[in-house]
Amino acid sequence: MISYPPEPFRIKTVETIRLLSPLEREEPIKKAGYNIFNLNSQDVYIDLLTDSGTGAMSDKQWAAIMQGDEAYAGARSFFHLKEAIDQIFGFKYFVPTHQGRAAENILCTLMVVSGCSIPNNTHFDTTQANILARGGIPQNLVIAEAVDPKNLHPFKGNMDIEKLEGFIQNQGPENIPFGMITITNNAIGGQPVSMENIRDVSAIYRRRKIPFFIDACRYAENAFFIKNREPEYADKTLLEIAKEIFSLADGATMSAKKDAIVNIGGFFAMNDETLFQRAKNELILREGFPTYGGLAGRDLDAIAVGLWEGLDESYLRYRVGQVAYLGNKLQELGVPIVEPPGGHAIYVDAGEMLPHIPKDSFPGQSLVVELYLEGCVRAVEIGSVAFARKDPKTGGMIYPDLELVRLAIPRRVYTQAHMDHVAKTMARIMDRREKIPGYRLTYASELLRHFTARFEPM
Ligand SMILES: *Cc1c(COP(=O)(O)O)cnc(C)c1O
Repeated sequence: MISYPPEPFRIKTVETIRLLSPLEREEPIKKAGYNIFNLNSQDVYIDLLTDSGTGAMSDKQWAAIMQGDEAYAGARSFFHLKEAIDQIFGFKYFVPTHQGRAAENILCTLMVVSGCSIPNNTHFDTTQANILARGGIPQNLVIAEAVDPKNLHPFKGNMDIEKLEGFIQNQGPENIPFGMITITNNAIGGQPVSMENIRDVSAIYRRRKIPFFIDACRYAENAFFIKNREPEYADKTLLEIAKEIFSLADGATMSAKKDAIVNIGGFFAMNDETLFQRAKNELILREGFPTYGGLAGRDLDAIAVGLWEGLDESYLRYRVGQVAYLGNKLQELGVPIVEPPGGHAIYVDAGEMLPHIPKDSFPGQSLVVELYLEGCVRAVEIGSVAFARKDPKTGGMIYPDLELVRLAIPRRVYTQAHMDHVAKTMARIMDRREKIPGYRLTYASELLRHFTARFEPM
């Protein structure tokens, strides 16, 4: 059982949020076409839409922002960031980018060729889209345990090593310009990857001479799980664990909006000098000069400080503990969740919770709407609204395995009382769950429809 220690910080600045009355919530959600992406954030009390860029910066980060150097070239801020990346990641070169997908864009522009394959444990949706946009084929090779919500595997995010070997054998290593692993594995529930698995994956890629890039967005949360669940790492520091992880790879893409606890930023790091030269040219074309990327100097300073704060053990114990606390509360209420709780979010199995609503009436969407109506809480559907697609051959629909609702917890933003409010909201929904209606689509775009879809209750 993961403990939930009190916050290792106190609150110096506050932002007012308002709990709208139940009656006041009806109008905004109806106007939004029952899609929470269309809600104004001022109509939301507790916003669990994402943990990306929604964290609270520290006094030290804000102080660093005041000291940002906005020089076009060679800014002091760049060297502050370089020092943090050198010490934690240890890659020889990096370019700053405005967020994680911009780093992926550069990597894919330079290395993906039409028809090639890119393996990963599970590609995040922006990574998958960047590969597809260059004509590549993203391949997910996560272990089978990952799709069973009740399986308690401690490293459910792991790559299936045998599948990876077989895949490389089948495709031919020459058709795989690089391989990846995502830590933690966001798309399957923020589940960690073990050091043993990263080491095995690295050995396979190296033997086949395939460059290895880590999607490092939540590397610090992953390092914390390694320390707590992989016995030989119990006495290592999180910095030692992080350094060992990155020593196994040739580079990394990073969204600093996650474990660097900033509101915007990212980077692309690598060891290969030729790749770095090409990345710089690409960066200048799309993002900016290599010492600022798509960011202001002050943003680089905030990332430099945030990288260290995100790796702090007492912070991570609180962080991972808070997520587990919410998960345990929901389980006590009998709410089915993806177990064990991951690093940044709780995923509710809405398909199991609302069995009377068929997949084509979107049980996850129903639960998301109820969370808003019942408690002014914003969550997001990760089920058939987001992932169902037409089979090009039969014209029938292909549905995802699970109908999930994600409650992502922003970093250092909400307190235990806020988590209790979410749990109480869910308890009231559980009490009347048989009466909750399904939804029908009234508008849907061709691609990434969840962002703009509109619905009506059935
Ligand atoms: C958020 C995220 C990205 C993309 O980062 P952005 O900063 O949103 O562009 C890539 N991979 C993973 C695993 C992520 O969680």
